[in-house]
Amino acid sequence: MKKRILVTGGAGFLGSHLCGRLVAQGHDVLCLDNYFTGRKRNVEHLMDYKNFELMRHDITFPVFVEVDQIYNLACPASPVHYQYNAVKTIKTSVMGAINVLGLAKRVKARVLQASTSEIYGDPYVHPQKEDYWGNVNPIGRRSCYDEGKRVAETLFFDYHRMNGVDIRVIRIFNTYGPRMHENDGRVVSNFIVQALKGEDITIYGDGSQTRSFCYVDDLIEGMVRMMNTDGFVGPVNLGNPAEFSIRQLAEEVLSLVGGSSKLVFGDLPSDDPRQRQPDITLARERLGWGPTVELTEGLRKTIEYFKSESATD
Ligand code: NAD
Ligand code: UDP
Repeated sequence: MKKRILVTGGAGFLGSHLCGRLVAQGHDVLCLDNYFTGRKRNVEHLMDYKNFELMRHDITFPVFVEVDQIYNLACPASPVHYQYNAVKTIKTSVMGAINVLGLAKRVKARVLQASTSEIYGDPYVHPQKEDYWGNVNPIGRRSCYDEGKRVAETLFFDYHRMNGVDIRVIRIFNTYGPRMHENDGRVVSNFIVQALKGEDITIYGDGSQTRSFCYVDDLIEGMVRMMNTDGFVGPVNLGNPAEFSIRQLAEEVLSLVGGSSKLVFGDLPSDDPRQRQPDITLARERLGWGPTVELTEGLRKTIEYFKSESATD
């Protein structure tokens, strides 16, 4: 059935893929963004569709619209960007959550929060399951993001308990793909752009820290399934359990791109998690969801995107 859907952060990396998918399904999509890390260009291809609308708005301020579903993605996701104005990042997570939850309460919409594996911090439990409470530094450089997202989860569950708001919470693990910003600062885009330009590949620390990388199409499939599943509010992990060290990722990118880039090793940022891998048993059981795109295939597609971007610049 056709729904009216608000996507906050809709002009960002994940938001633009989500909007594209919802528009293709025939829903009326309202994309809200303040363009901090997102760009109009990410949703340019949707502008001609009658069921797509774009709104410049900062989610730290209330929004009044009539909708059936809300995907709350507004928040910078790359450490470089979320640390640029830490206080603003917290406001976006916390006041943004209050505003979308208030809206959902008023118009009786279902609201999904894009939470993160960062709420597990530098985990002592490996792989991470949803019932792990995490190991987060409350006063470090990553705290504005981690703690903001943790409070947002708390707010979601309190509005659910107190006001009966129909919530969904997903915890997204490192996701990559086309439309990541060239200067985004996250590891996959950094390594690909560096390799394509023949620049040094900047590994922070010795590269033994691990991450598990999910291709964007898989993630969006899980997100939409979660939104449309009844009787299950989450939180649920969404990610690809295939775990790689950052050094392995660098070597894989280099072998796919070719060229003469060297691996160089720099300082490890403070509180950088040593390992991260989702346990997705719950997503498999409750959503019938699992990733389908392996790292090599996803990297190939992402490399093609960055190549075409540099050709059009
Ligand atoms: P992104 O930075 O590309 O997208 C975030 C979007 O939110 C951007 O378009 C930005 O302009 C917008 N935004 C930021 N502050 C805003 C504000 N105050 N008001 C309105 N819009 C605002 O990042 P992304 O990777 O697409 O992440 C989307 C969401 O998913 C974020 O909430 C992020 O925390 C979450 N997430 C992403 C990943 C990942 O690996 N990509 C992992 C975990 C969680
Ligand atoms: N990283 C790196 N070189 C880069 C960018 C990131 O070695 O140019 C490392 C970073 O220190 C972290 C991992 O790659 O250990 C993933 O970083 P990213 O910022 O993509 O995501 P997050 O740390 O939030 O998972």
